[in-house]
Amino acid sequence: MTRHSATNMNSETKNCQNCKSPFTIEPEDFSFYERIKIPPPTFCPDCRLQRRSAFRNEKNLYRVKSAKSGQEILSLIPPEAGVTIYEEKEWWADDWDSSSYGQDYDFSKPFFVQFFELAKRTPRFNRSVTFMVNSDYSANAGYLKNCYLLFNSNHDEDCAYGNGIDNSKNCFDNSHINKCELCYDSFWLTNCYQTYFSIQLWRIFSD
Ligand SMILES: [Zn+2]
Repeated sequence: MTRHSATNMNSETKNCQNCKSPFTIEPEDFSFYERIKIPPPTFCPDCRLQRRSAFRNEKNLYRVKSAKSGQEILSLIPPEAGVTIYEEKEWWADDWDSSSYGQDYDFSKPFFVQFFELAKRTPRFNRSVTFMVNSDYSANAGYLKNCYLLFNSNHDEDCAYGNGIDNSKNCFDNSHINKCELCYDSFWLTNCYQTYFSIQLWRIFSD
């Protein structure tokens, strides 16, 4: 008989070890944890979501020094992380060899301790960008021209203050828009022109 099947036919309420709020674990949750062989959670669902999301920084840029050239650059990784950061072009250059950072595995130490050391020592690029023109304050992005504070965005021109902006021109203060022009303060638009303060609009073109 497995660990929880005898005792957890009913739901169980626990207090989150982080925020102390009560949360409930349902019987089907217990059987799921059993199936994938992990213990039941001690954090509430909100705190678990925060911890899962914390690994990815989407829109905070930090001033750091490139470990290669020493020049000041903007980076998605804060300086206090202790990570080796190269400027994008320096990282892609052929004048260094990432395999030189390899190390032998030490069976007397835990894997993640060694992996953490390796991950901090091995250079990473600063903003995760490619083919950018005059768009130094954007990240996780590609093919931007004259853009400012765009994140997770591609193929845009003269746009600013956005997240998930693709194939758009002259758009400000938007999130998740595609093929738009002169749009402002909107969410989830496709093929829109001069659209303000709007959500979930698609303009369908027929051939
Ligand atoms: Zn909590």
